[in-house]
Amino acid sequence: MLLGCIADDITGATDVALMLNEAGMRTVQVMGVPRSPAARAVFDDFDAVVVALKSRTIPADEAVAQSLEAARALQAAGARQLLFKYCSTFDSTPQGNIGPVAEALLEEVGGDLAIVCPAFPANARSIYMSNLFVGAQPLAESPMKDHPLTPMRDSNLVRVMQAQTRARVSAVTHAVVAQGVNQVREALAVARENGERFVVTDAISNDDLLVLGAAVNAMALVTGGSGIAMGLPANFERAGLLKRGAVAAKLAAIPGRGAILAGSCSAATRTQIEHAQKAGLPTQAVDAHAIAKGALTPAMVAAWAAEQAAAHPVLVYSSAGPDAIAEVQAELGREAAGALVETFFGDLAMALVDAGVTRLIVAGGETSGAVVHALGIEALDIGPAIDPGVPWTRAVAGGTPGLALACKSGNFGAADFFTKAWALLDEVQP
Ligand code: ADP
Repeated sequence: MLLGCIADDITGATDVALMLNEAGMRTVQVMGVPRSPAARAVFDDFDAVVVALKSRTIPADEAVAQSLEAARALQAAGARQLLFKYCSTFDSTPQGNIGPVAEALLEEVGGDLAIVCPAFPANARSIYMSNLFVGAQPLAESPMKDHPLTPMRDSNLVRVMQAQTRARVSAVTHAVVAQGVNQVREALAVARENGERFVVTDAISNDDLLVLGAAVNAMALVTGGSGIAMGLPANFERAGLLKRGAVAAKLAAIPGRGAILAGSCSAATRTQIEHAQKAGLPTQAVDAHAIAKGALTPAMVAAWAAEQAAAHPVLVYSSAGPDAIAEVQAELGREAAGALVETFFGDLAMALVDAGVTRLIVAGGETSGAVVHALGIEALDIGPAIDPGVPWTRAVAGGTPGLALACKSGNFGAADFFTKAWALLDEVQP
């Protein structure tokens, strides 16, 4: 293993694993620090290992403890460099968790400087003059300003990061990045001499990310979004440590049925549901009130799915508009409503897999976490991209080995995501 990655949520982990895979590293994603010997054994078969945590919004000290545990496991398995991966919209609060985790990891690896670069131009996240943009909007004017857990009200990442860490934070601007690798290295050396420990780096294009990736080749810790991973594999290749493999165009999937579980209420997912309905997929809406009353159970939905013609995947969704969500939340409480629906999808996933589903798409970060947990999946092999940031994956350790799974962050993917994804699977015998 060459590169160890610690991601603060599950769909973010898949996103960075895809990026590394496409850049030529054989990559596996594990759910938390693996406990079973089988899951740890897979470390040796891959160039990069991504540990998926669920540490974005938990108390900062717990996020630090989990991240350090992951760092130690990755280093013990031979990782030469660590990447701390967080959201491309820098989802965090003044309490953390990006600052405290980055600080603890830097100390753990014995490093004195790390870059901070959540830019992901392919998904319209860019950094200029240390300000993060979502498309044309500064972060603080984007929908992220109203995020329920991590509202982002300042677009300047030097200020945002500085509020979360005791270490000194500075910046390398685009004018420097545009001059190339040597100039970036010089600017980072100056920052180091000045006692700065975190440097926010501008990046508005993939070329900028490649320059930055090359410039940090000798750093023990890199922090950023999935975009910054793009330039890291080339460093290992230049050092003669990595022989790039070709990315498979398809993922091997064992025969069986397909199902889509959508628990995300994001605009992109709701558009994808409408598109799938128009394309003729059998769909079933699940209502949180009915779940709460016991009037709708996972067994009932699984029975409905079994009655549908096998030619199409079935789609089950709880996704609803803001008014309907607000009504349910007022009645049940925000967290309880979310947990109720997540548990339902976890149980439904188990029932569907028991009934012969071998290909599963899950929409929603938290929903994906619930499903992966319910299915007991410990490790995922990364396959081809369906859309930027969302690959097919295959369960390789833990429950349901061989299951083809695509976990989609709510807002990712084009309108035809639920219908086009299946063509990337290649039927093989188990
Ligand atoms: P996203 O990636 O879009 O943020 P998530 O799955 O992370 O999607 O979050 C969606 C949350 O909304 C989950 O906790 C889910 O259980 C909850 N949810 C989904 N449908 C409903 C609903 N109809 N009523 C209330 N909460 C819901």
